[in-house]
Amino acid sequence: MNICKCFQWNTCGTKIDCRIGMSNRDIQPFQFACPKCEERISFVFGQSDGELLGATELEDFEGLFNGTNPFVDLHLDFPVYFGDYVMGMTTFLRVTREIGHQSYQHLNLRLNMLNALYPMQNDLRSVITQYKRRDMDNFEKTCARIPGASLKSRKKEDVLAALYTATSVMSSPFTIHEHNSEISSKASELFMWLHQHHNEKAIAFVDEILGNGFLKNLHNDCLSLYPKLVAMDLPFRSAFFYDYANTENLGKIPARISTADFDFCSNYYKDLAEVFSRQLTFLAGLNNLIKRGCSDLFESSLKLTKAQKIRPELESLHSFSNVDLGSKLALIDDCFYRIDMDAIDNKLRNGIAHYKYEYKESTQIVKYYPSKEGMSRDKYYEISFMEFIRKSLLLFREVHGINHIMKAALFYCVLILKKEI
Ligand SMILES: [Zn+2]
Repeated sequence: MNICKCFQWNTCGTKIDCRIGMSNRDIQPFQFACPKCEERISFVFGQSDGELLGATELEDFEGLFNGTNPFVDLHLDFPVYFGDYVMGMTTFLRVTREIGHQSYQHLNLRLNMLNALYPMQNDLRSVITQYKRRDMDNFEKTCARIPGASLKSRKKEDVLAALYTATSVMSSPFTIHEHNSEISSKASELFMWLHQHHNEKAIAFVDEILGNGFLKNLHNDCLSLYPKLVAMDLPFRSAFFYDYANTENLGKIPARISTADFDFCSNYYKDLAEVFSRQLTFLAGLNNLIKRGCSDLFESSLKLTKAQKIRPELESLHSFSNVDLGSKLALIDDCFYRIDMDAIDNKLRNGIAHYKYEYKESTQIVKYYPSKEGMSRDKYYEISFMEFIRKSLLLFREVHGINHIMKAALFYCVLILKKEI
């Protein structure tokens, strides 16, 4: 179903024609900025107090656009199209034409999962907090309310199993199921292999990352990212589309997101990058263990710079952990776990982390300045909000993938080594 409306901005008087395609989400908030004055219009469907802010609706409008005003197609579930109005060419039709009916069905299934998930937000946040606090009484109660996650016993392995069911519930619409189950089974095989072939050093690695709290802290920080993701279902849901569509068009066509703003999401990318960077330390340790039988042993040619100087950061895993995200990847030789390089953009991460970016809401373009330029700000890069969200989604998948390897490490500690985690 589609609704056509015409709005007039309170500030500058600009009129805009809107066609709004309905999603199955019960509450549907929309927002977008004026191309002239950057002021925002927002309104909510499905809520009695969803008042219109920033504009007034033209009452005498009769439902046929004649092309004199700018036009926008709005839909919560898909990229939004701005441009010329074409009667009948709704967002839904555009989408099903582009990706086909079968892909649409799959996409729709994931969107419906998301619709079921976001009303559970409070429980999903609580279950993580309670696990981190080891508050088992409340953890048990909350788990009972999350489908499939009920706690069998308070044995550590059952607690971990319930916890990972909860994170799997939270991440399922956002991730690729086949990929998850593959990593999950390969990762536990890996720890069994390490236990057999590098027994002493495998145990030493685990002892190190348990003893200094690295694994626990990393695991906790990783867990916190899940409820945050669910809370951002609105901007993320329209990026699912690019799991089916050709992403070559992602930056070229004016596909935009109609809700949420950049500041809200930019911190999330920064948090993901931070956790991912520490996960790379964990991966590097494992990679060293697999390839050279010791988590501290980096590949010998990498230990020297081009000028044949010793790289102090590769003396041990501990020193490696201080390396910047941007340089870490090149120092892990032929990593056993394949990392999706499309997810990582260290320039973008730096631009955000140093608060050197500008976001223009009307065009949804982010300009970021990653270089150290003293007091000036000249050299910039641009990314559309949709590309940015897509990158965040891919980075979340990387973090989630490595979380499966961390899960295998935790089960190895609990079941084989009988250690406290
Ligand atoms: Zn305006």
